[in-house]
Amino acid sequence: MTEYTSYDLVEWGQPFEKRSNDLPTPAGSEVLIRVTAAGLCHSDLHVQKGFMDLGEEGRLTFAERGAQLPMTFGHEIAGLVEAIGPDVKDMRVDQQVLVFPWIGCGTCEACLEDRESDCAAMRIIGLKQRGGFATHCLIEHEKFLVDIDGLEAADVVPHACSGITVYNALEKMGALRDGEWMAIMGCGGLGMNAVAIARALGITNVIAIDIDNDKLETALEMGAAKTLNAGCDDAVSQLQEMSKGRLMGVIDTFGGASTGRIAVRALAKTGRYIVVGQAGGDFKMPQVWLPQKAMTVRGSHVGNSPQLRAIIEMVRAGKIRQMPIERRPLSGINQAVEDLKAGRVSGRIVFQPET
Ligand SMILES: [Zn+2]
Ligand SMILES: [Zn+2]
Repeated sequence: MTEYTSYDLVEWGQPFEKRSNDLPTPAGSEVLIRVTAAGLCHSDLHVQKGFMDLGEEGRLTFAERGAQLPMTFGHEIAGLVEAIGPDVKDMRVDQQVLVFPWIGCGTCEACLEDRESDCAAMRIIGLKQRGGFATHCLIEHEKFLVDIDGLEAADVVPHACSGITVYNALEKMGALRDGEWMAIMGCGGLGMNAVAIARALGITNVIAIDIDNDKLETALEMGAAKTLNAGCDDAVSQLQEMSKGRLMGVIDTFGGASTGRIAVRALAKTGRYIVVGQAGGDFKMPQVWLPQKAMTVRGSHVGNSPQLRAIIEMVRAGKIRQMPIERRPLSGINQAVEDLKAGRVSGRIVFQPET
């Protein structure tokens, strides 16, 4: 075989197109993966649109951020090693691997401390370099691969983005004391994993928030203690009541003006509001609350390679409840995008490329 298939974005805002490409031969420490599972993330939808909503500041386009089309998206990638470069030491053909896609510049302070997600010059797989919506994917170095032999690729593939994103946010939120509560806003792929990983880290007082009762039902099955449909008028007072005035952390996987508004109002003194979702817009809050409530408003961007390895260890130890996975053929990518946009997906859509 000398060619492989990918589904690429050729024009911003347009559907993905099927394309044929020359199959690369790995050089140096490169590894060629035959993709068996590729998760569809909300951020793929944001990028397809071509811009982020910055509220009063206008728009941030991905072209401005250095993204170029055509591009193969897909940053949650698992597969089998098909070929290795001559300098690869620890990978073997047919090994099942998960890709760490948040590759940093490799030389800045953040990268040297394995905080790739804090690097200002990331070379993200599926945005700056070809990703997993394809039958094959070339990874630039074996160190970006995590062994997942013996695990189900489609089940664990979302951890490469949604898993480490919420794990990173939970670390930034910090520990809760007895009787303290946290809330997770948005029960899509990120939110479901946030509930599961919070539980795996020993946090039991979790309130899941969404506007879809079916998703809230699933969040309960994933281990949330309580749920709140935020479609009501009194979400703030309900949250304060549910947490007995001790809501100390909110992880916002939606990240819009509506969720920000509720979070900063419901949090108790010294509460931490951690935003990971990128729905966009801008929320307003009385600035005096920052000192008066000694509040932290903090962002967290994806996650780091040690966190991915830690999560896979927790999966192997049976500590992380499995979120719902919808397996679909990669050729159905454009329908899948529409379904995710319309909120018709519980958990994660994972593509399985046809060979
Ligand atoms: Zn993602
Ligand atoms: Zn860097």
